[in-house]
Amino acid sequence: MTHELWRLTAHEAHELLRRREITCVELTESVLQRIEEVEPTIHAYITVTAELALEQAREADERYAAGTATPLTGIPVAVKDVIVTKGVRTTAGSRMLENFIPPFDSHVAERLRRAGAVMVGKANMDEFAMGSSTERSAFGPTRNPWALDRVPGGSSGGSAAAVAAGECLVALGSDTGGSIRQPAALCGVVGLDPTYGRVSRYGLIAFGSSLDQIGPIGRDVEDVATMLDCIGGHDPRDSTTNPEPMPDMRHYLGRDIRGMRIGVPKEYFAEGIEPGVRDAVERALRRFEDLGCEVEECSLPSTKYALAVYYLIAPSEASANLARYDGVKYGFSDRSHGSMWENLEHTRAKGFGDEVKRRIMLGTYALSAGYYDAYYLKAQKVRTVIHQEFARAFERYDVLATPTSPVVAFPLGSRLDDPYAMYLADVCTLPAAVAGLPAISLPCGESEGLPVGLQLIGNFFDEGRLLMVAHAFERSFGWANRLPEIPGGRTP
Ligand code: GLN
Repeated sequence: MTHELWRLTAHEAHELLRRREITCVELTESVLQRIEEVEPTIHAYITVTAELALEQAREADERYAAGTATPLTGIPVAVKDVIVTKGVRTTAGSRMLENFIPPFDSHVAERLRRAGAVMVGKANMDEFAMGSSTERSAFGPTRNPWALDRVPGGSSGGSAAAVAAGECLVALGSDTGGSIRQPAALCGVVGLDPTYGRVSRYGLIAFGSSLDQIGPIGRDVEDVATMLDCIGGHDPRDSTTNPEPMPDMRHYLGRDIRGMRIGVPKEYFAEGIEPGVRDAVERALRRFEDLGCEVEECSLPSTKYALAVYYLIAPSEASANLARYDGVKYGFSDRSHGSMWENLEHTRAKGFGDEVKRRIMLGTYALSAGYYDAYYLKAQKVRTVIHQEFARAFERYDVLATPTSPVVAFPLGSRLDDPYAMYLADVCTLPAAVAGLPAISLPCGESEGLPVGLQLIGNFFDEGRLLMVAHAFERSFGWANRLPEIPGGRTP
């Protein structure tokens, strides 16, 4: 079986490594070979770090020999290219940072290194995490491993596709409005957006600072819990992280969920939801009843404002965060013009792609004198209303269940000319993001032969209960770690 080690989940691999039935080098070689076979088709990576991975795998084998291994030691991991990695090029999917080699590690990269994980590459993404299809990457689109003419979702499409295609066992993504959960749904894998404040953003290239979170993508709920155990918790370098110690997430797995109260906000089943998606999610809700949960329809009437709120707040913050790319200290620089101001203009005109420019313009407008109160401030007030509505719902329910995406993976190119259609891909993930709540997407069925994602939203810092409910569902549903056959990819 050695040539198919890339098919393992991280916990299965850890078990075999612990029993010394396989080595970290064998596991890493299997994943690197899989990358060689399918990467020309899928293009999940901007950079593959094969040499580094083999070196880390050798070190990981020493840790198993010395008895100091953790559950992630020797596990091949992909890291979204918006997460800074010391000495390894980090582009954020942009020409602006095409040659940026960070002199430091992000908090999460540091945690992965310390745990002995093996980094196999930096995953493709929409430029600066703005997008829902990974087609906005300056390095070309990623293809969905389930259907090569479809998008993998975005902006963490490279991370989700890499997990689904066997080009890593687990991955890190980032989620500002849905960028972990939506690609996880479209690629048939599990993605968790933790509570705002659960995972340090030190070394995450900023998009919308009041929304950005880093989180894991894996082939099953257990792997996602293991990753959160590794990356979560307080970090003095990110003052928004929760100083309370984080409970052990794997502790919540394998428990009985009888009596759990699940709210189903009816606003998420409005027009625009594909019938196949609705059917799969409704079947999932019946499964929760079979598992002994109380499933009840509820209403969150402000849901309909989340998209507008997000598309004012996120671009406003982006316009401020992206002001630093001026070609002076680092990143792309066009100095072939007369004055400093002209150089600045040309640097930004050439370094940024169209969607990023659109966001900067939207944000600058929403923040400008005379419009600030009408747009940005108003959006912040509505955000509070959305937040309060969720808080009230969690007085009654343990988790909320919705579709993750209104549609299955859509054809490449089909939404590129219509920004609003692209923005609608996140209509189900935006409300929890705006409120800062944790949410997970996990496979709950198929429509048109493509995976459908179920979204579970939890209360603030209650990832444990979220994972517990997700794990119970996954076990009863039995989809976990189902991988697509990729045409052209050798699947012996
Ligand atoms: N698709 C949304 C956007 O384009 C969300 C992106 C994200 O979560 N990073 O802004």
